Amino acid sequence: MPNKRILLVEDNEGDRFAIKRMFKKKSLPYDLSIAVNVTKAIDQINAQEFDLVLVDHGLPDGTGLDVQKAAGDIPCIYITGATNVAVAIEAMKAGAVDFLVKDFEQSFLEFLPLSITSALQHKLNVEKRLQAETALKESEEKFSKAFLNLPDAITISTLAEEKIIEINEGFERIFGFSRKEAIGKTTVELNIWKNIEERNNFTAILKRKEVVRDMEAELGSKSGEVYSCLLSADIINLHGTPHLLTIVKNISHQKNTENELKLAKQEAEKANIAKSEFLANISHEIRTPMNAILGFSELLSKKNSDPTINDYLETIRTSGNTLLSLINDILDLSKIEAGKMSIQYDYINIRLMLTEVKDMFKLRAKEKDIEFILYLDPHMPEQVYIDEIRVRQVLINLVGNAVKFTHKGYIKLTVHPENLRSEISHGKQKEYIDMVVEVEDTGIGIPKDIQKKIFEPFTSGKESITKEYGGTGLGLAISRKLLDLMNGEISLKSEPGKRTIFTVVFKKILISHEKIKTVEEESKQYSEIRFKGAKVIIVDDVDSNRRLLISALKDYNLDLYEASDGAQALRMAHAVSPDLIITDIRMPVMSGYKLLEEIRKTEKLAKIPVIAATASVMEESLKKIKGYNFNGFLKKPFKLNDLFITLSQFLPYETIEKPSEAIIEPTEGKEYHVHAETIDKLVNEYMIAWKQLQDLPDMEEVMSFAITIKTLGDNEQVQILSDYGEMLISAVNNFNIEKIIQTLQEYPSLVDTIKKSF
Ligand code: ADP
Repeated sequence: MPNKRILLVEDNEGDRFAIKRMFKKKSLPYDLSIAVNVTKAIDQINAQEFDLVLVDHGLPDGTGLDVQKAAGDIPCIYITGATNVAVAIEAMKAGAVDFLVKDFEQSFLEFLPLSITSALQHKLNVEKRLQAETALKESEEKFSKAFLNLPDAITISTLAEEKIIEINEGFERIFGFSRKEAIGKTTVELNIWKNIEERNNFTAILKRKEVVRDMEAELGSKSGEVYSCLLSADIINLHGTPHLLTIVKNISHQKNTENELKLAKQEAEKANIAKSEFLANISHEIRTPMNAILGFSELLSKKNSDPTINDYLETIRTSGNTLLSLINDILDLSKIEAGKMSIQYDYINIRLMLTEVKDMFKLRAKEKDIEFILYLDPHMPEQVYIDEIRVRQVLINLVGNAVKFTHKGYIKLTVHPENLRSEISHGKQKEYIDMVVEVEDTGIGIPKDIQKKIFEPFTSGKESITKEYGGTGLGLAISRKLLDLMNGEISLKSEPGKRTIFTVVFKKILISHEKIKTVEEESKQYSEIRFKGAKVIIVDDVDSNRRLLISALKDYNLDLYEASDGAQALRMAHAVSPDLIITDIRMPVMSGYKLLEEIRKTEKLAKIPVIAATASVMEESLKKIKGYNFNGFLKKPFKLNDLFITLSQFLPYETIEKPSEAIIEPTEGKEYHVHAETIDKLVNEYMIAWKQLQDLPDMEEVMSFAITIKTLGDNEQVQILSDYGEMLISAVNNFNIEKIIQTLQEYPSLVDTIKKSF
């Protein structure tokens, strides 16, 4: 801090000298300036700032009072001769802070330092007080400005009687009362509260907490308008008595906007649901013809042996299947978005499921010369309580992507448990794990910027990637949404050009140690079915749907009848007393629901099993159908196997056992009469078709190949060919991947065997 500056005004050289020497001798920490008369003193005061003036009274061109006047707020100490004491007192009255009398021994010099210190301290105190006063004034000004100008309504009222003692303009503007009308009244007297419970609540909160924050209330103005308001209140002390400072914010506008937004959101949600319903409805419209397209091409290829036409049929089926899976994707997404996707939990064998997933992609990986590693942690429980279909859907998508985007190295599917714990639920001890699934590949990887948005719908990597690999970009979006529904999480790590790891954690999965039936065990019994004769009515308004069912069932020892609506079916049922009815739901004249009702009402018909067949996929209508107590349910387009499985529950049948080994044993010594054209087909067209099956086959393609071979064998009466086709069909129907692969591998040796016998 710089030294304090002192101005000494003294005409007497001896006194000046004595004072200066005393400053020096005592090393006083002040900067001393000198003036010898009033004029010089005033010049100096104007030129620079002083903290203190020491002034003699008698000066050549005036008196010390003149200097004091010019000094203004600067404290002055008078140093006077003994004769001028009266004058000094006058000076003190005019504001001088001290006076010292020059004595002969100059002992006044002893007191001078103390006098200076206290004068400076005094000045400091004055300055501080002034600062505090200014600050107070400023804050008062600020407060009163805020009080007056705030757009919110503010009142100050006494705490005891609640009488208003001050209001601001905001209050006048919002509530329409003038200052005069409001002051001295309570808010109840002004009839501001529109809801007395809210007022009581306000008082209660204030009593309990001594403060109210953002309490919502309906308040009314003088002219009867009602506003939604936010109230805050504090207790303040005014002149020693407690008062209440209340601030009222009018949020009616915000509320209206909020309500409008809410309405808009509801509208948007309605529109979204309408969109989903629309999608589901057009899916019904798409699925109905798709049912015919896929089903008939399957049947046609069964009948047809012309390879070119079969080629075309295959293209129709492959494209149809692609279209169907796209529709399914879009539907899945809209179903989830409309909150209509329900999760169906059951105990499943996790090892079996993983093996199935591996089997699905094993061949494709082998084709690309990449290794497929499946690792199931030994601590992983076999039975887990999950939605098998949805979990499989997620895994198929992740593994499918891994295979698609990898060209060398490996794909690793690992599953391990974490956080094994047991809890008591509904009085029973239950065990839970978090199931962690990792899908790792050494493929092209995913660039950083794309990683962030990869789980958004319709994000399929870089344009160049999409061009090269195709895809809709829906798989991961669906997977993530499905995982949300199953209390699961998905994350990814990827080094572009090196590897990608998708990690899925299914949280809190219930586990069981009980043995459950495997899929194979369950489905084996349906492998080959022959009905023991029964009457079946097929009801559908779409001609092609009826024909499809009739073509599919006509060789299975059933009497089939057709009806194009419920009413016709009912008349027919009275006439023929069928053993089973398969009916569409939506039909003109009489719907499937009504038909079911009528059948159940009629004593003679009541017990006939009725199977619903529909293309509708909306959860609601599925629920509705289930609620109607149909005996069975077929979702179009259905696989022939599903149809037989459903019918076999109601109609007597026999199972034809087939050789269980997939290896074709050439029957020693058996004679074949094979035409040259047959050999030609087997060696050329069918061999080409067979070769294509090495390249990523799907079940439909294998089925088509199997049927073609079987048809040829049946037509040409070459039993070994029929058996081969039959075996492949049965393997496909049972989803027995190992057997399919094994049987397919046997094709060249089968052809050789037949060639040899020619
Ligand atoms: P799509 O049907 O287009 O494959 P997905 O949602 O399944 O849709 O995947 C979106 C995109 O994420 C893909 O197009 C691809 O760019 C990228 N992707 C997904 N998995 C992998 C992976 N294992 N390796 C590299 N890129 C991947």
